[in-house]
Amino acid sequence: PTIHIGMATCGLAAGARSIEELVVKELEKRGLEARIIPTGCIGMCHNEPLLDITMPGMYRVSYRNVKALIIPQIFDAHFVKGEFAKKYAVCQIPIAGHKPFEGLPLMAETGFFRGQVKIVSSRCGLIDPSSIDDYIATDGYKALRKMLTEMTPDMVIDEMTKSGLRGRGGGGFYTGLKWKLTRQSQGEEKYVVCNADEGDPGAFMDRSILEGDPHSVLEGMLAASYAIGNAKKGYIYCRAEYPLAIKRLRKAIDDARERNFLGDNILGTGFSFDITIKEGAGAYVCGEETALLASLMGERGMPWPKPPFPAQKGVWGKPTVINNVETLGNVGHIILNGGDWYASYGSEKTKGTKTFALTGSVKNSGLIEVPAGTPLRSIVFDIGGGMLEKKIPFKAAQLGGPSGGCIPASGLDTPVDFENVIAAGAIMGSGGIVIMDEASCIVDTAKFFLKFTQDESCGECTPCRVGSKIMLEILTRITEGKGQEGDLDELIRLSMYVKSNSLCGLGAAAPNPVLSTIRYFREEFEAHIRDKH
Ligand code: SF4
Repeated sequence: PTIHIGMATCGLAAGARSIEELVVKELEKRGLEARIIPTGCIGMCHNEPLLDITMPGMYRVSYRNVKALIIPQIFDAHFVKGEFAKKYAVCQIPIAGHKPFEGLPLMAETGFFRGQVKIVSSRCGLIDPSSIDDYIATDGYKALRKMLTEMTPDMVIDEMTKSGLRGRGGGGFYTGLKWKLTRQSQGEEKYVVCNADEGDPGAFMDRSILEGDPHSVLEGMLAASYAIGNAKKGYIYCRAEYPLAIKRLRKAIDDARERNFLGDNILGTGFSFDITIKEGAGAYVCGEETALLASLMGERGMPWPKPPFPAQKGVWGKPTVINNVETLGNVGHIILNGGDWYASYGSEKTKGTKTFALTGSVKNSGLIEVPAGTPLRSIVFDIGGGMLEKKIPFKAAQLGGPSGGCIPASGLDTPVDFENVIAAGAIMGSGGIVIMDEASCIVDTAKFFLKFTQDESCGECTPCRVGSKIMLEILTRITEGKGQEGDLDELIRLSMYVKSNSLCGLGAAAPNPVLSTIRYFREEFEAHIRDKH
């Protein structure tokens, strides 16, 4: 038998480490033997701690919200009676050649997973992220072999272009085109950088991929290096607040070197590439690519005006391709299955799937992956299971973190892709979705996000540094019942100014939460000012 325990940050925060200890004791007490395997996050963060048991020849059964008291009951059912513990089992996961249990839904049949399509997160929660053998057994490094033996760099770029994959960090730039431009840049020395500086409050897509399937990101970087003309060196810029992700990345890099998937003369083909991890100190602006590159080179993390773009002049002044974790995690799947296959998912202009961190007042919070263009309603009410407190209705979904905006109930049928979400006044961003119910104050929400960006402004340009400060002062006085007539018009005027005059994306997007909440909830702002509350 094997016992998988969810040991991503969400599982550990819910007590997975003590569950592991209790499981070891229970096995010893009963004189049983089982392999205990840690996994990343399967997405059901609301059900953590999760414990899966696989008996020989049978499907893997997932148990949710496992506590000390129920472990003996789960063991009695599974190990003594050879059945599953009905009260605590959530679903079963098929294994080829094994048999299902009767009366327990398959994972894909449960409400949480039914509308999901897992590509980049397909291994998360299922494999041991610390095991390169688990990665290889699930087609890992097959794309690398295929690429090095059957494809030219141009063919790799063609597949990426066909796939329609766009930057999953929120920028939405076409990955194939980015790689092509970097390939066309002159110079022997080139670099690949992975942006793992996920900083939006409420967002944990990249962290989950790094903790659950780190090799997929390395394989994506290998492909980028090959495609742009054999960049010999890659960097992963990861925030230091993700210690588990960094630990798993380090192990993955060491193992990949040992198996000759990284380093010199990879798989005997003459192709060489190696990766160094650079820990960021947690400045939000370093998620902006030029600030990230500055920080990577040891300078203060401040953006530079573009052009020059990193494709022309990036790390150490050399052509550099910079992609985020989720973008890179998709690459191996695209090379293996083809660009057309990937493009068969998603909407007209946003191909493929997108991961989202679904949080807030929703029943099933966690990490989800859906085809781009999935309606917001289905994310909240089908996958998310609806509102946490049944009696308090949905008020708004905040999409895209501090650079994003709120979509109200009238926008629930918005297809969630790059274009439609922008038309609704928010952005898809890197994938944070915070659900708010009618008990939430929308002005407080706008203030929270603006305070975040104001704190994180690097101070380089005046519109962002000063404009956002004045906006925050106005919002603060409104929430303190000291709002004045004309405050809303002033907020809108300042928002437009900050948006169009800031140097980088942080400042340009900082007013979004304010503008979108005024657009949809103006009456609530006016009530605060009028009634002085
Ligand atoms: Fe810095 Fe803000 Fe200007 Fe960006 S917009 S460069 S974060 S001050």
